[in-house]
Amino acid sequence: MGKTKYIFVTGGVTSSLGKGIIAASLGKLLQSRGYKVTNQKLDPYININSGMLNPYEHGESYVTDDGHEADLDLGHYERFLGIKTSKNSNVTTGRVYQSVIQKERRGDYLGKTVQVVPHITNEIKKTITQLSVGEEYDFVITEIGGTVGDIEGLPYIESVRQLRHELKEDCLCVHLTYLPYVAAAKELKTKPTQHSVKELLQLGVQPDVLVLRTEHPLNRGIKDKVALFCNVSADAVVECIDVPTIYEVPLKMQEEGLDNVVLRKFGINVDGNAELGKWKTFVGKMKSATEKVRIALVGKYVELPDAYLSIHESLIHAATYHDRKLDLTFIQSENLNESNVVKMLKDMDGILVAPGFGQRGIEGKIQAVKYARLNNVPFFGIGLGMQCAVLEYVKDVLGYVDADSTEMNARAEYNIFDLMQEQKERLMLDDTMRIGAFDCELKDGSKVKDIYKCGKVSERHRHRFEFNNKYKEELENAGMVCSGINPQSGFVEVVELPNHKWFIGTQFHPEYNSSVLNPHPLFMDFVRAAVDNSSAKAE
Ligand code: GLN
Repeated sequence: MGKTKYIFVTGGVTSSLGKGIIAASLGKLLQSRGYKVTNQKLDPYININSGMLNPYEHGESYVTDDGHEADLDLGHYERFLGIKTSKNSNVTTGRVYQSVIQKERRGDYLGKTVQVVPHITNEIKKTITQLSVGEEYDFVITEIGGTVGDIEGLPYIESVRQLRHELKEDCLCVHLTYLPYVAAAKELKTKPTQHSVKELLQLGVQPDVLVLRTEHPLNRGIKDKVALFCNVSADAVVECIDVPTIYEVPLKMQEEGLDNVVLRKFGINVDGNAELGKWKTFVGKMKSATEKVRIALVGKYVELPDAYLSIHESLIHAATYHDRKLDLTFIQSENLNESNVVKMLKDMDGILVAPGFGQRGIEGKIQAVKYARLNNVPFFGIGLGMQCAVLEYVKDVLGYVDADSTEMNARAEYNIFDLMQEQKERLMLDDTMRIGAFDCELKDGSKVKDIYKCGKVSERHRHRFEFNNKYKEELENAGMVCSGINPQSGFVEVVELPNHKWFIGTQFHPEYNSSVLNPHPLFMDFVRAAVDNSSAKAE
């Protein structure tokens, strides 16, 4: 197509309008027309990345192949577009400043005063334009986190202004706003949108396309009014009405012609429509499924479903392909104990114990594992969930009552999960996390090899503690199979129980590798087992 085109997605009026979903949907539409597209998110907060953030702040930390702890919007980009994002796909103010300060210390600025403009804005512009170096993307879609008008977002909007000036017709700004509905007047209100566009204009940025989130359909009159007051062409005012699933948004945006108007604004001929056949089939299946599959997600951040977003979406993908409606029950592991576990879990077709850090809620997770194991209920343990599966087995079957992970109790008699020697040496550097994609070899004859249908996979990790191989032989002799091993380090990545309907624990996080058009095999097979379990119960 020639030069890379840059699309910025900003948000106005309020947060939580779904900029990430709009950015991902636009990416999907352009990609489905045959263009090479990638998405990027710039976060105005000062944290270096999402690694230290409590999930209550911005939801889960997404993890990229190259080991970056990222904003969860990167998950939407990957699940919608089926692409792989990287460290450069998510940059925060903290990282921008870190890089500028390092350069200042090295003397790179030759004694100049280092300022927000031009040094910080240059660094931001570089993170945007460098993304396509060596990749030759047709479109780079950059979402600016936060809401226009936030103090911390100013350098980003200024960078957008400068890039529009420098790249001229190769740049475009899509602004997402909200039209509140005033019930007493039975009217949708455009004033907040007008104000947020004014705010952008004050900063020197005229949006080219406006996407209006609304709970009620817009008539032509409202669109024309917004067009007139906000100085955009009438065809560039796009309605974005609430839909039951985020996966319907690309279809809605296609109906509304979002990709067409974007292409026209770039002077690109619009030929036909984006090919969304498989996507439509998926959404159709999702909407027509009536029979449920009931899964329990046992974790400690259950009040905030975004804390387990990728797991939730992976389960939705799998349930949809099995023509089931996912009925997910979030269970607070802190509230789960020996006396209520049967009541809480007896109606479940499958049980998933979530990843996590720290002691809180561990006992409940172990109770959930025990219930699933003894009652032959399909069980999937991820990260800490896998560690709980091993601990429960070691305690109950091997009889090592005082077994634990060093994370929970460094003085336990049996440290079944422990820091490895090389990590201990790096402790002072706070660099002990194993993070990013690593290879895993699957054992011949194992369930997991049968599910993946290959002998070697690569999956993403985010954890510190490893299964202590000192106990491997005993564990296997007692019937738990270590069926996935990292070929370089020998670390145990997967455990399973061969005599159980479906009992698999993975130290890695398969949820970061499930997309709409490529659901993850482990989630697919876990949900299949849960469906079989529910059918067996019904008979
Ligand atoms: N807290 C555990 C560890 O660091 C597990 C983390 C996870 O669930 N990925 O090893």
